[in-house]
Amino acid sequence: MPIKNAQISYNDNGTPVAEAFGDVYFSNHNGLQESQYVFLQHNDLSQRFRLLQDDDDFTVIETGFGTGLNFLACWQALDKLHIEQQCGPGRLYFISTEKYPLSENDIQQALDHWPELKDYSQQLIRQYPDLTPGCHRLVFHCRGYELILDLHFGDIGQLLPAMHCPQTGLADAWFLDGFAPGKNPDMWTEELYRQMVRLAKPGCTFATFTAAGAVRRGLQQAGFEVTKCPGFGTKRDMLAGVLHSKAEPEVIKPWYIRHTSVAQEVTVVGGGLAGANLCYALCRRGLKVRLFTESLAGDASGNPQGGFYPQLHTQGNISSHFMAQAFGYAQRLYRHLASADDFAHQFCGVLQLGFNPKELARLEKLADKGHWPESLVHPVSAAQASKIAGLPLPYPGLFIAKGGWINPAGLIEALLRACGDKLQVETGRTLRALTRERDQWLLHWQSGGRHQADCLVLATGARSAGIGPISALPLRPVRGQVEAIPEQGVLNALSTVLCHKGYLTPAFEGCHAMGSTYVKNDQNCDYRRDEELQNLQTQQKALADCDWVHQLAAKQQGRASVRLSTPDHLPVMGAMPDIQAQRRAYGELRKGHKDEHYPPAQDLPGLFILCGLGSRGLCTAPILAEALACQLNGNPMPLDGTTLAALNPNRFLIRELIRQPG
Ligand code: SAM
Repeated sequence: MPIKNAQISYNDNGTPVAEAFGDVYFSNHNGLQESQYVFLQHNDLSQRFRLLQDDDDFTVIETGFGTGLNFLACWQALDKLHIEQQCGPGRLYFISTEKYPLSENDIQQALDHWPELKDYSQQLIRQYPDLTPGCHRLVFHCRGYELILDLHFGDIGQLLPAMHCPQTGLADAWFLDGFAPGKNPDMWTEELYRQMVRLAKPGCTFATFTAAGAVRRGLQQAGFEVTKCPGFGTKRDMLAGVLHSKAEPEVIKPWYIRHTSVAQEVTVVGGGLAGANLCYALCRRGLKVRLFTESLAGDASGNPQGGFYPQLHTQGNISSHFMAQAFGYAQRLYRHLASADDFAHQFCGVLQLGFNPKELARLEKLADKGHWPESLVHPVSAAQASKIAGLPLPYPGLFIAKGGWINPAGLIEALLRACGDKLQVETGRTLRALTRERDQWLLHWQSGGRHQADCLVLATGARSAGIGPISALPLRPVRGQVEAIPEQGVLNALSTVLCHKGYLTPAFEGCHAMGSTYVKNDQNCDYRRDEELQNLQTQQKALADCDWVHQLAAKQQGRASVRLSTPDHLPVMGAMPDIQAQRRAYGELRKGHKDEHYPPAQDLPGLFILCGLGSRGLCTAPILAEALACQLNGNPMPLDGTTLAALNPNRFLIRELIRQPG
């Protein structure tokens, strides 16, 4: 379902009112004081934050993000504590759901009442995501701490059951907001209270502005101890409480369970986009990382320029929702990195051209169905396309304004610099073999010597396919050659990335990147003249009506590398399954027994993989790395359970077991 903005009006007090519910977003008296009183004070947040230090995390889950006022009130309190008393958690996760997100303008207008929140609300608005379904992770780097906001867009009834929960639980505190139960009965359900318990850590608290009897009874029946407290403003009562303990949580689809790691040091092999992003996500969490790699930015991460955009489909399926989420996260991360460090890039947009009737129809469908918001992708006429590109283009198409191109090597260096002294890098290390001895992984290097690792992540791109246990996964190497076309004639004016059957970028260091071939099961990286011709012909065939394309001269300069793909074209992120053990445990899966009959998935201890990114690493590596770092560290995940299952390295095996004939 596409996500639609909330329709808002303002009452005589200037308080925003949701048309769909006929209710105010916060109290007419003083919304900020209401937030502080109801949600912060009754979850005892100041006191609990004060007891925490840099190494500690704290997680709030909220129902109904609305204007973000509760979130900003929480941020303000945390900031005050860090500045005035130098204490508080090093990382606050604030997870919120929202069915009808407010527009940036409405957020601004609604929060205008409180100039003291302006700094915070402007930062929120700068990162505010596109209206696509699923989780959007926004990271705010603050003085002495990190604030991570996970905005899950969609209906809470579907979002909470799909939310991934580490074995130790997720929420330290619940903000139970979401319009009066009488005006929004669909939200205040038994299922909501059940999910609150499922996602809670033992000792989790909650607070809500309402004192409705049905809510009180629902929460009590679910297991919370509930107290009635004096309400805010004209409200007589409100509810607050605690979940002292909870039963062992029921594991849904135990074959896709994600185990955490207790290791304080992680060994990463592979210095490409996947490995560098992983180092960054781990070091940000205070973990020590050793990175071993043959070279930095080698193999498929070694091209001078990579197009940066999401691959979207007309159906809103898992793959394209994942791509949209990944693109949003990557784009926010790259903008943050670029503000502090330098790496070659241009966020000059990406034009997808309707170069033939079939492709045009596909693009029109993509833009038309209301699947994707205009802020992510919007249709352009041939005249607009030509203006954006700076070149005559007789084709209409779609424009992804936040896309562009990036120099992967520069980005990788910037990511590794941002890791600071938590990271140790050793280049010149090529993995020859991987063995296990006395509860440790032994990495045997081609140059001789070996290292031990308790917790090992292989981010080894196309080379993963040949490494010990990993070779059991159906990974597919695909060769790709990209041309370096010297700056020339009319092409000099190209000012956006062009995509059709192939792609063409604006110039960087005197050359345009023109790609790419796609040769399955070929691991040879020699430069080939016939593939140069193929790349040229792809451009000339697709852009046949452009005179300038027929004058393009290639100079046999370019680069071939091997990327790693998978049968379902989605990456592989998570623990390496113990294939034999899982075959034994789930051999009966095709008979469709209930989840609870099965044990949790058994993995190879301490071995994780992050690969199969194909040619999409610039878009997908940041969110995949963030997710894997969260898994290892037991933190809230930036993707929902369904998406995580679709990325799980054991999914091929599980699908085979479900399908196999009896
Ligand atoms: N916490 C908000 C703030 O700080 O501004 C105010 C929340 S407002 C009272 C309730 C919010 O819950 C609205 O933004 C509404 O769109 C959202 N909401 C209501 N029903 C929902 C549902 N079923 N799923 C997700 N969000 C829902």
